[in-house]
Amino acid sequence: MSDQKLWQDGQVSLNALLSDISPAAKKPLLELLSGYRVGKESLAAITLAADSETICRDCGGKCCLNGKYRVNVFDGLSLCAAGISVVPDFSQKPMCPYSNAGGCILEPGFRPLDCILFVCDSLEGQLPDSDRVDLTALENNLRECLSEASLLLNINLGTPLLLWAEKLTNQPIHNQRGI
Ligand code: SF4
Ligand code: SF4
Repeated sequence: MSDQKLWQDGQVSLNALLSDISPAAKKPLLELLSGYRVGKESLAAITLAADSETICRDCGGKCCLNGKYRVNVFDGLSLCAAGISVVPDFSQKPMCPYSNAGGCILEPGFRPLDCILFVCDSLEGQLPDSDRVDLTALENNLRECLSEASLLLNINLGTPLLLWAEKLTNQPIHNQRGI
């Protein structure tokens, strides 16, 4: 199955998951999604303040190659819950499908967790010690969000979305939630 079809199937499954969720679980899920987004924004703001824009532009986005598995299920759920429609281009390998000539097409609050957490040596060299402490605390919060939401939905939300969608297509209809 093509990556494009897996992406579309993943969107359908995520929307179904959001509409089927019980009211009791929906409130904590939305709170976790909100914390996930805000945590990513805070983390990105720290690297932005260290001039990541210039450093990454000069680097040419080396860490963004072959990024098709970067979006995990919780990242996808975050986009779906916010009503953000993303059209990846899986044909532009080795460029990341979630990028264009201007860089990443996702706002920092909706970028994949793996991308937000990655701080290369060039960036880290620009950060004061106090920022490193903040980054660690924010990373722990984000991982905690992911873990709590995974428990709540009984799904390993850290699984790459495309792999989750692929596995769902191979499961019997009555068991299309977990992985
Ligand atoms: S995070 Fe580092 S490797 Fe990635 S684009 Fe920026 S400078 Fe390059
Ligand atoms: S999703 Fe965005 S930040 Fe992550 S690898 Fe792709 S272009 Fe880079």
